[in-house]
Amino acid sequence: MRKVLSRNSEHETLLREFLAMAGYGDDSENSGLPFLPDIVLLKEKTAIFMHGCYWHRHNGCRFAYDVGARAKELDNWKKKFADNQRRDKRQTKELLAMGWRVLIVWQCALNAKKRAEIFLPQVLQWLNGNNKLGEIPAEPPVQKY
Ligand SMILES: [Zn+2]
Repeated sequence: MRKVLSRNSEHETLLREFLAMAGYGDDSENSGLPFLPDIVLLKEKTAIFMHGCYWHRHNGCRFAYDVGARAKELDNWKKKFADNQRRDKRQTKELLAMGWRVLIVWQCALNAKKRAEIFLPQVLQWLNGNNKLGEIPAEPPVQKY
């Protein structure tokens, strides 16, 4: 059984299946890491995080829109956003320090089939490269879809 149900979102399933087809098995259930990346490639020592653009504040992304809430709630949301960002940063830093590679795949990359066709190959490209830290998309998409 999965520890957290939300880990199994449609986007994660899409990426997981794509990686499986390319020969990369997900070891996130048995990674031995102190926290839970969405996808873990143990052999490649690579952790993949799939971040929702809204909750993790994808910089410049149209899905990271402002909260239209009343002032009192706004503070809570802002705190939640800040907590998420702080945790993301800390986990990335820890993984890099342990010699892992870290790839962040933003949700907007896989929001539509057309996008998935563009961005999924970029995941493989990154895996085949040498960068320790990567982000897909590198720049948030600007055109509407
Ligand atoms: Zn985004």
